[in-house]
Amino acid sequence: MQQRGIVYFVGAGPGDPELLTIKGRRVLREADVIIFDRLVNPILLMETKSDAKLVYCGKQPCQHLLRQEDIHKELLIHARKGKTVVRLKGGDPSVFGRVGEEAESLSKHGISFEIIPGITAGIAVPAYAGATITHREHSRSFAVVSGHSKARDGQPQVNWKALASGVDTIVFYMGVKHLTSIVEQLQAHGMKRETSVLIIQWGTYSRQRTIEGTLTTIVQEVRAAKVTNPAIIMVGDVATLRRKLQWFENRPLSGVSVFIPKEDQSNESLTLQEWRRLGADIYSKPLSIKKRLTVSQMDTILELSATEKLTFLSSSSVVAFIQSLHDREIDMRRILAEFYCMDDQTKEELKKAGFIAKKVQRLSELYSPIVVGSESELTSLGGFRGSGQFIQIDEMVTVREKQMMQRMMEEQHVNTIILTNKSHATNFLNLLKEIQMRPSLLAANCTIICEEQVGETLQSMGIVPAYMYKEKIGSEELLFARSKVSLPVVAIES
Ligand code: SAH
Repeated sequence: MQQRGIVYFVGAGPGDPELLTIKGRRVLREADVIIFDRLVNPILLMETKSDAKLVYCGKQPCQHLLRQEDIHKELLIHARKGKTVVRLKGGDPSVFGRVGEEAESLSKHGISFEIIPGITAGIAVPAYAGATITHREHSRSFAVVSGHSKARDGQPQVNWKALASGVDTIVFYMGVKHLTSIVEQLQAHGMKRETSVLIIQWGTYSRQRTIEGTLTTIVQEVRAAKVTNPAIIMVGDVATLRRKLQWFENRPLSGVSVFIPKEDQSNESLTLQEWRRLGADIYSKPLSIKKRLTVSQMDTILELSATEKLTFLSSSSVVAFIQSLHDREIDMRRILAEFYCMDDQTKEELKKAGFIAKKVQRLSELYSPIVVGSESELTSLGGFRGSGQFIQIDEMVTVREKQMMQRMMEEQHVNTIILTNKSHATNFLNLLKEIQMRPSLLAANCTIICEEQVGETLQSMGIVPAYMYKEKIGSEELLFARSKVSLPVVAIES
């Protein structure tokens, strides 16, 4: 019998990536296919398997949205092939997330599914703005309301009378466009003119912005502040709590959103943890993680004799080698060569895999070695001289990195990019090229900060960093750098 697949509807939470449930994260890590919406924080895509298929439901390159029927089809196709599918939705999948329709279509075709709730924007976002949705003194009931409908004019279709008189706090989703009619209707149906209103944009992200007003003033305020979707409208006395309970938007690094490529999957550095505590959003992931040796390169290694010197330039070259052994199901006892390396980290990585290597200071100490590493590693050693052979590892950008970057840039989730070494800079710029983003556009939207020596590499590629640091960058320097603007070198770029 053909294996049946399963679909998990997963709530991704409102934005802060740590507001994903543990269960949601587990299935995200297991999934073969992920079908995700626009309002999902793109960093969550990096929780998926590197070979998982990612399908974006928002605007496609041809500028149309994936239609609901297409989404149903996509879910069915993969589930029928026996795949584990995650349908990743912003907030909670059952709150204005159309999970009912999608689940119904699966059920009709006998496909199993589970719904994994998430934290809905209507509750989490006001909490991040300092206004709890209920409060013993201000609010004993709340309603979540769609500020948009299928009607021709898109106006919300609700029982205004009941809403205006029957609940203490009302939260409108998708309502910014119809704000004027929302406040008019509420007043027309008896709500006091001075009732407090909050509009919170990009809630739970470091760039969260809150506009305060009353039913009579808010339209003007929102227009002046140019608030657009995604935003939540909260109406009711609880909104005034914000004056006492504001905690999120006034942290020292609130509004700073940093992308900083990372070396490997190791834990986040203490500096980044501190920035996060101070209010920054941190997007820190390794950029080129898929490392492989080609089949012919592996064949070369298998043919080595017991006296030949297989030398690894870095721990990531070991990772590429081990990965390729696994992929091809090669018994490691078939490798006869002697193992060498040039630093302790590489030695450790080899030891983890069961290979004991000798450490040398320089390549020239070895006669005719077979050297495994990346081009940039070899260059930093002064290139390959003399006899021997260089086996270059493949560093491939995976689909999920590409998707993450594309979403991150298009939604302007990031306003600061820090490049700590040359290989990060080249990987990053290659990735930009793959998503067809021009460096000038990047510089217009982001502050680019780099280590001093990386500056040259960047300039040769068309970007003048806003700030260059010497050894390490601290939070004060980060703020200073943010106040400067990066400029593209247009001549080189064209
Ligand atoms: N299922 C989602 C809601 C989807 S409808 C949930 O449970 O949260 C999309 C609307 O949700 C947006 O138009 C906006 O009104 C709201 N929204 C989602 N994420 C938001 C965020 N981070 N900040 C403010 N509003 C958000």
